[in-house]
Order: sequence, then structure tokens, then C-alpha cells
Amino acid sequence: MRPVRVRFAPSPTGALHIGGVRTALYNYLLARKTNGTMILRIEDTDQTRFVPGAEEYILQSLAWVGIKIDEGLKEGGPHAPYRQSERKALYKQYAQKLIAEGNAYYAFDTEEELEAMRTRLKATGSVSQQYSATTRMMMNNSLTLPEAEVKQKLEKGIPYVIRLKVPDAEEIQLQDLIRGEVKVHSSQIDDKVLMKSDGMPTYHLANVVDDYLMKITHVIRGEEWLPSAPLHVLLYRFLGWETQMPQFAHLPLLLKPDGNGKLSKRDADQMGFPIFPLNWKDPKSGELAKGFRESGYLPDALLNFLAFLGWNPGTEQELFSMKELIQAFTIERIGKAGARFDIHKAQWFNQQYLKAKPNEDLAAYLLNALPKEISCSKEKAAKICGVLKERVTFTQDFWQQGKFFFEAPTSYDDQVITKKWNDEAVKVLTAYARALSGIKDLTAELAKSTLENVASNLGIGTGKILQALRVSVTGGASGPDLMRSMEILGCTEVVSRIEYALKTIKKV
Ligand code: GLU
Repeated sequence: MRPVRVRFAPSPTGALHIGGVRTALYNYLLARKTNGTMILRIEDTDQTRFVPGAEEYILQSLAWVGIKIDEGLKEGGPHAPYRQSERKALYKQYAQKLIAEGNAYYAFDTEEELEAMRTRLKATGSVSQQYSATTRMMMNNSLTLPEAEVKQKLEKGIPYVIRLKVPDAEEIQLQDLIRGEVKVHSSQIDDKVLMKSDGMPTYHLANVVDDYLMKITHVIRGEEWLPSAPLHVLLYRFLGWETQMPQFAHLPLLLKPDGNGKLSKRDADQMGFPIFPLNWKDPKSGELAKGFRESGYLPDALLNFLAFLGWNPGTEQELFSMKELIQAFTIERIGKAGARFDIHKAQWFNQQYLKAKPNEDLAAYLLNALPKEISCSKEKAAKICGVLKERVTFTQDFWQQGKFFFEAPTSYDDQVITKKWNDEAVKVLTAYARALSGIKDLTAELAKSTLENVASNLGIGTGKILQALRVSVTGGASGPDLMRSMEILGCTEVVSRIEYALKTIKKV
């Protein structure tokens, strides 16, 4: 068995879509599981679709989620360069070999001639207007033109492309690790361009040549590439590399949250969830798309969520560390059916990961969000995160929900005031503020027992006034454990807040 070598081969044509991150993840899991090698190859041969910044964005996204590359742009490796545009000279010889052996040909057709062919075929009611076995003999190429003329055209520098000569009537078969046997009739495949007139290879040629040269053993990629796979099989055959052909695994589609159709950026925008790992500013339109990172997702939670979009471990376990994912992952457990992109599930994973993190680690999220004029020790921030972590979904929630620790309320929840601010509440809170004043180090336990004492002395149940206490201390109707919150706030602050509330809340 050859040592496992997999590659993630994105094209820098825009922001890396979340589906691309899943593809990278599955490749990475297989590489790590088998002690194999994870390669990053940038497929940038289509110069017309090049987007500045996209390549750097891909690198940053992979770094953020923690997918480590063994061979690639930054890492180097035995097959460098790993950017296809820098490998341009390499592809030509393979195209030449295909021509020499009668498996590819020069085509000189101009845009107008191609258009004329399509119009003609349409007019005759032909279902397909492709350049293929049925049409190639009517066109301007090295199969139809006399040899001398072809030579002359090449010498003169007349623009040409190189096309694959797809066999006429043949069933092309391939074994996909996820889909089993895939059969496509060659009549379904057109004579794809392998080399463009600018001398650049197309995706198909560059992809196959590089997979071969880089000794790739498994091609794990999105379902949208399945239609290209038979063509790739032909290329392996024509280039004499059949025994080195990688195994294919085409991953299931990512579907919209309701399961109807392919997930798109438009759905994500409409429903208000991210679809890119990091913020992305489109260089053309200037439009900013919010990333998972900036939306408050943790990278490990996101990966755990993505791992389950198409794969499952066959058990009930849902929370998997990277180490566990590597252990449990197998291509055999990837399904064919499209995977619903359930953003609520992503949020659930994020909650679980936030909850499981040590308070000291969470403190950074709160400290980073604090406005400059507020200072807070790491210890205090960790304590605040500790009381909040059961309640938060996103990293920014620590500040959103924990603001009251830093800013005394100046307004109060209307509903609580209407329903719970009454004589009894005022009585208990007045006595409670007085009782607390004598205490030096307020603990949650002491805050609770003091409240119980005060209330029972007045013959009032604590349950009746808890909401009033919360609103006077925090301003809100709900929040984290009140006694523990008061411990963090400290006695002086709690007393001053209760007294301020008693003064300002007029309704009795
Ligand atoms: N460059 C292709 C893409 O952008 C790679 C497809 C493949 O993995 O073969 O997705």
C-alpha cells in the first residue's frame, strides 16, 4: 500500500466557502488517521477568475480552524511549487504526449466559429451543442485540417487550444469510495479543453497531472466534481498512469437548513448566519460578509459541527475532540445523501464547547470585548465567565450578557417593575441593603442566607421578591445566578445598586 497522501486543492476565486472547510477537514482527518500527508495545492490556472486576497484568506482560514498542512505554499515540500500558476511549464509536455498518441488535438476554432456551431446545432434540434465526438469532424482542428496546414498555423502562432479526444462510444467506469460504482457514457462528455490559448492548462489537466506527480492516493472533494471524474479517469488512462490513479471520494452536498436544495450564500445572508470561516470583504463590490470567527464561533466547535455534515461515527456520541475525530473517522462512514446545514446545531456545538472551556480561557473573550475605559483583572473576568458560561452561545455574549458587572443599571425591566415591584419588595430590599452594609466579604452563600433571614423576619417569602432584587442589581428580568453575581459585584456595589433602585423606582 502506498503511504496516504491527500490534498486540499482550492481555487483562489473568492472567500473559502464553509463546504470547502469541510472538504479540507475530511482530507485532514484521513491524513492524520493514517499517518499520511496533507497537501495544500492552490489551483489558480483560471486567471480570469483570480481574486486578490483569496489565497491569503484560504491560508488564514485553515490556520484559524486548526487544519495543519504538511506540504504547501508556506511549508514547501518535495513537490514544490504548490501553486499551479508556477508549474505552468510542466503541464505542456503531458498535453504534447496526449497529442502525439492521438488522444488530444489542436483546435483553432475562433469564438465566432464556436458560436456558429452552437447556433447550427440548436437549429437542427440537437439536444447538446457541445464540441464532441459528433461535432469535432466539422470543426477547425488538427483532426480535420491537413497536417501541413496545422503545422503552418502553429508556426505562425495562430491561437489554439488543446482538446481531449474523448472516445466515441464507451462506458467509463470508476469506483467511488462513497458512491460505489459510477458509470458514465462517453457520449455525455465533451472534448474538454486541456490547454487554453494563453498557454495555461485548464483545471482538468493540471489537476490530474499534479495529483499524479504529487503521488496523491485519495481525492476527497465535493460532489460538484463528480461529473469531471470520468474525464479524469480517461486522462489517467491516456497518460499511462492507471495503476497510480487515486481513489475517489465525492462528498455529499451541503443543503439549505430546510433541506431543499443546495446551500448558498444567499440563504445564509437571508437567514442571518455566516457561510465563510472569517470575515470577507469582496474586493469588487466592497461588500462585507461576516465570518464564523467574527460571529463568535469557536474553531473546534465549528469543526465538530462540520465533521457531522455527511459523516457520522455510528454511535450516539456527538462531541468529538480533534483527536477523537481522527480516531473515529473513516471514509466508509460518509453518506451519499446531502447534509442539511442546520445552523442551530452549529450553535448547540458552540454552546457545548464554551461551557466546557476553563473559565480562565474564556476570560480572554470578555477582556477583548471590554471598552478601553473599563479595566478588569483576569481573575474577575474568569469569575464572570464562570457564572455566564451556562447561558452563552457565542463568544461575544460574555460582554453582551455580562455588561451589568461593569455598568450599574440606570433603567429597569418594565415588566418586572409592573409585576414585582411592590410594598413587600421595597420592605425586604430596604432591610436587605441595611443588613448587607455590615458585611465585608460577600459570598454567594452569605448573600443568600442574609436575604432569607431578612425576608423571614418580615414574614415574606424570598421567592416573592427575588425578581425585584435581580432587577435592582442587574436592571434585567433574567440573567446568571444572582447570588454568585452579587459575590462578584461585591457588597458595596450591591448595596449602592439596591439603594439607587429604591430611590429611583417610583412605582409602589
Ligand atoms: N480546484 C478545485 C476546487 O476549487 C478542486 C477540485 C478537486 O479537488 O479536484 O474545488
